[in-house]
Amino acid sequence: MTGVQNLKAVRGNFLDVTRTISHPEEIESALRFIEDGLLLISEGKVVWFGSWEEGKSRIPETIRVRDYRGKLIVPGFIDTHIHYPQSEMVGAYGEQLLEWLNKHTFPTERRYKDPEYAREMASFFLKQLLRNGTTTALVFGTVHPESANALFEAASNINMRMIAGKVMMDRNAPEWLLDDAESSYLESKALIERWHKNRRLLYAITPRFAPTSTPEQLAMAQRLRQEYPDTWVHTHLCENKDEIAWVKELFPERKNYLDVYHHYGLTGKNSVFAHCIHLEEEEWDCLHDTDSTIAFCPTSNLYLGSGLFNLQKAWRKKIKVGIGTDIGAGTTFNMLQTLNEAYKVMQLQGYRLSAYEAFYLATLGGAHSLGLDSYIGNFDIGKEADFVVLEPTATPLQQLRYDNSVSLMDKLFVMITLGDDRSIYRTYIDGQLVYERT
Ligand SMILES: [Zn+2]
Repeated sequence: MTGVQNLKAVRGNFLDVTRTISHPEEIESALRFIEDGLLLISEGKVVWFGSWEEGKSRIPETIRVRDYRGKLIVPGFIDTHIHYPQSEMVGAYGEQLLEWLNKHTFPTERRYKDPEYAREMASFFLKQLLRNGTTTALVFGTVHPESANALFEAASNINMRMIAGKVMMDRNAPEWLLDDAESSYLESKALIERWHKNRRLLYAITPRFAPTSTPEQLAMAQRLRQEYPDTWVHTHLCENKDEIAWVKELFPERKNYLDVYHHYGLTGKNSVFAHCIHLEEEEWDCLHDTDSTIAFCPTSNLYLGSGLFNLQKAWRKKIKVGIGTDIGAGTTFNMLQTLNEAYKVMQLQGYRLSAYEAFYLATLGGAHSLGLDSYIGNFDIGKEADFVVLEPTATPLQQLRYDNSVSLMDKLFVMITLGDDRSIYRTYIDGQLVYERT
């Protein structure tokens, strides 16, 4: 390929999904597997993708080919719901949502007022994402703008595509962790001005959840959304039954929990609601009608005993779903492990989550759920070159099981069931190698 700047060539077996789907039955026809393929990258974008035989003549002699034959190269994983200031409290024992917040989460999040601490933890957090093959995430900060600044700075250093925001929270939490309606508006606005669309970074207006915002603050969130209609909204919805009862007490004038957000203009395309376990029929319909997104967080939902998300119903209602790890109520940063738990959550409801469907949700489906599928999610020409090299046989058990797998579906399913961070051999962001397993 001549006239192309800084060309990079990557060889190996590639798997991706070529188009978004509206029903899991469509997945096999949308799947693309290239055994011995070639990916050419320039300036962080895919410039050519196909078979090695067809493409090898395009590689100038001076270019070193990164040869990953024997591995599986897939688009970077997309985590649609995660809290970076909760890494240090994963595995906090014994509580369900509301007690867990008071006992563990709020005291931990208090530390992020210190910019130095926030920087240290932002760096730790990003390293965890990379070693788990996650190349894009939708991330909660704390109430402190310092937390969001630290995370955006760290992500900007590797030109990561990330969406994040500072929490808006002006009631029902300890006083030392509250903003107010006005300050939350001004601080969010300053962060949007500084970071939204700054390189690959994007901003999410982030009210923690309805119980910790006054109506005045939700009105301010609405004002932000009106002033910056291309930002995201990121919050929680219908995770826990006590939480739902509390929202009904706090907002008796609203029809249901989601109606609180809907009333303040916070539903819509690029509005992401984590959990959605105990939805009323009208809430399902409202999510569909407003083109909102659900983040399905299986490890968190099991860990906090919140309940089982009904993925099958989301497909039926034609609502976009992405997968979230929800660290620190979730118990892993790893998308393979998260999909493994998703499979079990669906088993308990009599639904068979296929390896391909799971893979879709973690890649192109996740990108679509965040409104980013024209930038990331597969290897189409022009897409941003974020990808992961998976090692299917990282442990003796994986090797044994892999040798006893006949189909691609089986191999992928085994990787989801037995995989973890050892399965992540290399991670690339923006065409650059950012993680190497040692
Ligand atoms: Zn969460």
